[in-house]
Amino acid sequence: MRIDLHCHSTASDGTDTPAELVRNAAAAGLDVVALTDHDTTRGYAEAIAALPAGLTLVTGAELSCRFDGISMHMLAYLFDPEEPALLAERELVRDDRVPRARGMVAKLRELGVPVTWEQVARIAGDGSVGRPHVATALVELGVVSSVSDAFTPDWLADGGRAYVAKHETDPFEAIRLVKGAGGVTVFAHPAAAKRGLTVPDSAIAEMAAAGLDGIEVDHMDHDADARARLRGLAKELGLLTTGSSDYHGSRKTCVLGEYTTDPEVYGEITRRAFGAFPVPGAGGV
Ligand code: AMP
Ligand code: FE
Ligand code: FE
Ligand code: ZN
Repeated sequence: MRIDLHCHSTASDGTDTPAELVRNAAAAGLDVVALTDHDTTRGYAEAIAALPAGLTLVTGAELSCRFDGISMHMLAYLFDPEEPALLAERELVRDDRVPRARGMVAKLRELGVPVTWEQVARIAGDGSVGRPHVATALVELGVVSSVSDAFTPDWLADGGRAYVAKHETDPFEAIRLVKGAGGVTVFAHPAAAKRGLTVPDSAIAEMAAAGLDGIEVDHMDHDADARARLRGLAKELGLLTTGSSDYHGSRKTCVLGEYTTDPEVYGEITRRAFGAFPVPGAGGV
């Protein structure tokens, strides 16, 4: 079984539509793929409608959180997308992304970059708008040569010249809300230092005590040392460990199934969740 539990579509900052994502996941030989767009579930219906036989879809989201001033991401799986408290918080975060992106456009214009909101809005389409869309505009304008080159202190990195913060959920609140909606939480790329500050192990221990289910260990932004350290921490704290590609289509270099999750861990996630169930592709597993 090949299981990839962290993928983005055009419902947020990926470049595959949800239908393309599930087709590409099947073509990449995956048995299970999770759709985890930033702060939104809007890709679910299209992904389910296009789900090929033999591929199972895990519905999820990647929730924007902040601990002690540090931005972090919480993967949430198999929660009830209609549950009102989690839905309200997700909409708050997603809707705040629009004025925030407009704010980054304004800062870039002050820095002499001729980017417009219309350009960013066109790139984002109906996806929840984020820095990778603004970064794509900077690539189009020839200001930087790649999306990742826009994530520097000069431009869009946390605290960078054109950075604007958005509303982000307290991770303890996120854990509580996801549990209340029948879902499971996994702290995404907790040691991805190149993205900015990371939260201390003591905070991960507090989150484990508050009901966090797992941490993402095998991820492109973790080197071998970070993975070994996180595996030890998970063992100590009784947390599940996952591996995933964090696929964003052509907006990032990673490929589907680049890292995968142990089938036993996947089984445990599905046993703990009761807000939604994995969706088998027609005639599939
Ligand atoms: P936002 O949620 O709008 O603050 O944007 C965060 C997103 O930007 C992440 O989910 C990644 O897709 C992307 N990102 C963050 N850091 C980097 C980086 N160093 N290089 C490329 N993409 C990044
Ligand atoms: Fe992203
Ligand atoms: Fe993330
Ligand atoms: Zn992600």
